[in-house]
Amino acid sequence: MPVYLGGRGEALKLALAPFFDRVYSAIGGHLSVGREDLTASLKDVRVGLACGATLSENEWWTAELATNLLARLYPSLSINGSQKDLERLRRLAVRINPAIEFCNTAPAELTIGIGHTTSPAGIWPSANGWFSRLWFAPKSEHGATNPYAAGASACFAVAEIFRRVFLNRFSDAEVSVSLLTFGKTERDNVGLPEGDFGEVLLAGIGAVANSALWTLARDAGRRGRLIALDPEHVEASNLQRYVLGLFKDAEHTKPKTWIAARELRYSAIKVEKAALSLEEYADKHNGIACPTICISVDNVETRRAAQALLPRLVVNGWTGDLALGASSHHSSDERACLACLYHPQGRSLSQTEQAARALGLTPERAAALWVTRTPLSQQDISTAARTLGVDPAELAGWQGRPLGELYTDVICGAAPIRLPVVNRVETVPLAHQSALAGVLMAAELVKGTNPELADLSQRETLVTWGDVLFPPPSVWVVPRAKEPGCICLDEDYQIAFRDKWSHK
Ligand SMILES: [Zn+2]
Repeated sequence: MPVYLGGRGEALKLALAPFFDRVYSAIGGHLSVGREDLTASLKDVRVGLACGATLSENEWWTAELATNLLARLYPSLSINGSQKDLERLRRLAVRINPAIEFCNTAPAELTIGIGHTTSPAGIWPSANGWFSRLWFAPKSEHGATNPYAAGASACFAVAEIFRRVFLNRFSDAEVSVSLLTFGKTERDNVGLPEGDFGEVLLAGIGAVANSALWTLARDAGRRGRLIALDPEHVEASNLQRYVLGLFKDAEHTKPKTWIAARELRYSAIKVEKAALSLEEYADKHNGIACPTICISVDNVETRRAAQALLPRLVVNGWTGDLALGASSHHSSDERACLACLYHPQGRSLSQTEQAARALGLTPERAAALWVTRTPLSQQDISTAARTLGVDPAELAGWQGRPLGELYTDVICGAAPIRLPVVNRVETVPLAHQSALAGVLMAAELVKGTNPELADLSQRETLVTWGDVLFPPPSVWVVPRAKEPGCICLDEDYQIAFRDKWSHK
């Protein structure tokens, strides 16, 4: 693995987070790096945040989430800004990692600049209405307040820092994406109207839901009622990527629903807590009465169960191996339902799932490639090469050809490529990966429950960033049709759905 900074072998006393083993599971899994190497590579890393003297609301949120994410990985942070902001951000970092060290400076290329500041910084996130942006030269914009875009910008910036530190991979290609439409033009921007999302079952308070709640808590015009479902408590290992998780929450093993309610205590969103799984909740209440489910659980069965509970709208947030995304499913339309995305029997899906697993592609990317016979991109080839542990040059001959050919030739053994034994440790998503999935999930919830925004939103079911070890994609949306054999095409399901909602 390329190590940007640091040596190895010496006895290290670092301000590593107390949950470093979990950090190691996340990073070691992605980069095939040893624990000692990771410790050593973090030894001399200083990352920074340079804030202007006065920050807009968007800028403050970006600074806040960036600090939150950085403090979960890097032992030494440099934070500059007004005295008040500096103190608040440092206090946040210490609550996450009590051992964290603050330094005066960090290299400009590892410093995030926010707002009007002359401090040297190389990475400039900003938000303007629904537009989330990342620049590589000083930039400050004053657009409409939007915590979804501001949160996403923080994730883009922290992802860029991660690639610079651990992969020595520097990007200077500007990122600009509207979380409303996933387009790039000014037409893709409107304000954030106030509104009520009604009653929503929030199934699973994991890392993805944590950042969804973080974002919703900052949306001052949002009203609604969340029924937060999760039977578990916060553990130290969760702190690696739970943006609502503080060190003391794990010490006191607080329920996950409790930290959800704490985050929303000053907002107009009401929270009801239930220490139950979605299935247990539905059993207890003989089904569900809420029109909307927002789900980010860690298993496929519960996602399929969610669709079977006949919600009008399901919003789904997920992280895969290196991927992240969100999807939105209105039961009445022609697009894929949530169960379609996770349908087990579909012949094409099981093939694509195997190919996805073997080649390290996301199931969504593999399915899109397989169904549409879209040619494999250079990024797909490099993902496959990294997963298989071979030089990308060995697979170059498959670029531009269909996924099925790469799979048959390489995995099924038609082509003479020697694959090394890849021994990977358990893979846990990276903090910024889960955080962005949650921001996207929250945005889809708000868009899907607001008619004005729903009309303007992207038409595709799925939005995804396929590999966070590369810069954000230029195309985020993935169209998905219904899966033959899925419950949503079943007549009894359709009748039950109409019976449930027609009189309401
Ligand atoms: Zn379906």
